[in-house]
Amino acid sequence: MKRRIVLLGPPASGKGTQADRLSKLLGIPHVSTGALLRSECTRGTPLGIEADSWTSRGLLVPDELAVRLITGWLEAHGTTFLFDGFPRSVGQAERLDAILGSLFAPLDLIILLELGDDEICRRVTARLTCLKCGATFSPFLNGLSVHDPCPRCGSPLAKRNDDSVEALNQRLNVYRKITLPVVDYYERTAPKLLHRISAEQESDAVFDDIKTLVWENDRED
Ligand code: ADP
Repeated sequence: MKRRIVLLGPPASGKGTQADRLSKLLGIPHVSTGALLRSECTRGTPLGIEADSWTSRGLLVPDELAVRLITGWLEAHGTTFLFDGFPRSVGQAERLDAILGSLFAPLDLIILLELGDDEICRRVTARLTCLKCGATFSPFLNGLSVHDPCPRCGSPLAKRNDDSVEALNQRLNVYRKITLPVVDYYERTAPKLLHRISAEQESDAVFDDIKTLVWENDRED
């Protein structure tokens, strides 16, 4: 079974939802840098306040800050993980390789969830997020409104301040310019680990494809 997994994909490709389901199934921690940053921000920590000045404009936080967050996480929790939203730039991918190399714990699976722009826009501008536990919900699928409590933890749901059309366009530009090159990076440095899955499919079908990859070649491990 794969134990060090990176999930890549544009906003609303379902990274968070799939990582959550996989984390429960495998007992591997789901680490979302976006959710970690939102939690720092809600708690008003200096790191959270600094991060919010970037995230609320749809911009990536500086590599240095994202790497600090992940290094702290690895030190506290060890080298079994499902990363959602990290690495998001070639600089972060290089730093991650160096950190994991020094721990003799290289990545063993990289999954890219692919989704077209129209569907991204439809999903993002409608979705609701729990600011406490980080779960996201689609009003289309879950029949929820901003007045309902989070079905998972009971806290209030809200629209994220970077889920507006303006911030989304900015995030998509950033994704194309800064994050898609991460896919090229892994194609060059780890082609056997990188797999693409269509996120246009229903959530269960995406999950089935992911599970196949997680257990692929297990007999040879
Ligand atoms: P989404 O995948 O929908 O864009 P996330 O919750 O993953 O949402 O991230 C929200 C925001 O947090 C990003 O737009 C970015 O500003 C910031 N962020 C998250 N992860 C990183 C990262 N690895 N590097 C830089 N910024 C990040």
